[in-house]
Amino acid sequence: MSKELQVYIDGVYYPKSEAKISVYDHGLLYGDGVFEGIRAYNGVVFKLKEHIDRLYASAHALMLHIPLTKAQMIDAVVETLRRNSLSDAYIRLVVTRGVGDLGLDPRKCPKPSVIIITDTIVVNREDAKAKGISTIISWVRRDAVDATSHEVKSLNYLNSILAKIEANISGVDEAICLDRNGLVCEGVGENLFLVKNGQICTPPADVGALPGITARVVIKLARELGYNVVESDITPYQLFSADELFFTGTAVEVVPIVEVNRRVIGNGQPGPVTKRLMAEFQKLVLDPKNGVPIS
Ligand code: PMP
Repeated sequence: MSKELQVYIDGVYYPKSEAKISVYDHGLLYGDGVFEGIRAYNGVVFKLKEHIDRLYASAHALMLHIPLTKAQMIDAVVETLRRNSLSDAYIRLVVTRGVGDLGLDPRKCPKPSVIIITDTIVVNREDAKAKGISTIISWVRRDAVDATSHEVKSLNYLNSILAKIEANISGVDEAICLDRNGLVCEGVGENLFLVKNGQICTPPADVGALPGITARVVIKLARELGYNVVESDITPYQLFSADELFFTGTAVEVVPIVEVNRRVIGNGQPGPVTKRLMAEFQKLVLDPKNGVPIS
């Protein structure tokens, strides 16, 4: 039998089956906390420093003090992977507000909790990259930038979960979320890109999407490959009439979208720009200079 995965909670390692937190933790009671999803490829944690920076920026927005320095956090992530002898993994880093009382006041939670889970993740069908995925535009609007904005990677993902339920009951793979003005924002856990006449386009910051680390990498990569990449508003009509669409995210990496609300996108197959970016992205994640080594 293989050894049980070890989970880091506040500096102590527990076997997965015993890795538990209090029912009084405000992460559970109120979704009060922040998280990151990170991947390791071939012994290197891809863009770990960037993920840690975003985690601390999210925590700062919630006035949540993380009880480790960024360097200590990086060490803890790497050590957790080492203990589990993992060189390819999905890492879930969670910081909760910690244990409080049943009221929502965060001042009642003296000590935030840090959790590091290193495991695997499966988010799409096995043939998703080869065939592309189907989507619907969800009726659930993304929270506005002056509300519980998804720019903050908080533990409150109900907005995404409602959209995901819509996709599930509609029999499609994933949902696309609009902002309150009806402009395209992002997927439930992915950033969105559109290709039209050879130009690549992604929504601007003011729609309130999470500033994706994969998206940033893909934008740089695409520019290096000579594509013109712009940030501009995208309407549902522009989705329907795109040549190509794709999502980016740590979990999905780069995945083509071939259907939106039963409209076929392009010729219904992953397009050439998407395929090129998928292939180049898979090379890039294996380059050790794009991350922090585990050993
Ligand atoms: N948007 C949302 C809402 C997400 O949860 C994620 C996944 N973390 C993304 C976009 C993609 O971000 P990244 O490329 O940094 O994983």
